[in-house]
Amino acid sequence: MNVVDIIHEAIAAKQTRFAFELLPPLKGDGSQKIFAAIEPLMPYRPAYINITFHREGIKETVREDGSIEWHVVRRRPGTVGISAAIQHRYGVEVVPHLICGGLSKYDIEDTLIDMDFLGLHNVLALRGDKSQNERRFMPHPQGHAHAVDLVRQIDDMNHGRFIDGEVEECHHSKFSIGVAGYPEVHFEARDTTADIAHLKAKIDAGAEYVITQMFFDNRKYFDFVRRCREAGITVPIIPGLKPLSTPRHLEVLPETFSVTIPEELTREVKAHPESAREIGTEWTITKSRELMAAGVPVLHYYTMSRTTNIQKIVSTLF
Ligand code: FAD
Repeated sequence: MNVVDIIHEAIAAKQTRFAFELLPPLKGDGSQKIFAAIEPLMPYRPAYINITFHREGIKETVREDGSIEWHVVRRRPGTVGISAAIQHRYGVEVVPHLICGGLSKYDIEDTLIDMDFLGLHNVLALRGDKSQNERRFMPHPQGHAHAVDLVRQIDDMNHGRFIDGEVEECHHSKFSIGVAGYPEVHFEARDTTADIAHLKAKIDAGAEYVITQMFFDNRKYFDFVRRCREAGITVPIIPGLKPLSTPRHLEVLPETFSVTIPEELTREVKAHPESAREIGTEWTITKSRELMAAGVPVLHYYTMSRTTNIQKIVSTLF
């Protein structure tokens, strides 16, 4: 069963499920830590698991003669491999993320073919962020500038159309495609109307559901859903929630993800920094309950691969 069917099943049953997002292991780590993060959550029947995709970084090494050598490094490779390993080990649907950044459309096609062979039929199609050494996002010379182009490529493959146009009679993949949406507007968008128009273009190109960027105030989500519906976006919009777990998140999350943290939560964490984790967990439980009462089909939890707070949340709610 692919993810969009799971979401529609939850809508029909009027029963909220949960999903969570993990990072692939650091290069040099085996799969044990990620399995250890997943195992305690399995008794609560996650609807599916997302695995992020990380683009290359640049490492600078000073040679003995003082000149500088640049290396392209990938700190968290292996999104597709670890996704397949998880899906086969736990029998749960896994959604590998796939980005445009740093990849040609030929690299992307090869990755999709591997995914299809491995039985991974879900994908979250993203643009990705700029590389460390760029001032703004620069597409690969043979790649895509926006996520919508990636959605088109995947949808083309689903219809038997490959990049070089050479294959005619072929097996058709059946990827279910999700995309990202931004309740507080993507930081590069001209305005909210343009951002939602770009989101609609991704749906028109073949995406079947949206997962939102994290938000801490449910009003942002409800307002976003309303604006999407007004713009003619009818697909499910899955709310993304990140439990705040350290006082540092008060600065880091807004800076990194262009999101705002409500005054009330900021005040509470500043008053009791030693209890930031418990406060963030309780806040997420309260927000999750409200979203469940509003009938959302799935709650998507961002974990950064540490799942103890997610265990507390899902054991309370599911
Ligand atoms: P796009 O949809 O391409 O949008 C990017 C910007 O361009 C927006 O401002 C949009 O309004 C604008 N835009 C879109 N189309 C056009 C157009 N045709 N003309 C002009 N402007 C346009 N990043 C990773 O690197 N790896 C991950 O695994 C990952 N997972 C994520 C999961 C979720 C649920 C979310 C919400 C984000 C994730 N990200 C991930 C971050 C994401 O890659 C960044 O937010 C990125 O900056 C934008 O990606 P996008 O797919 O939304 O891009």
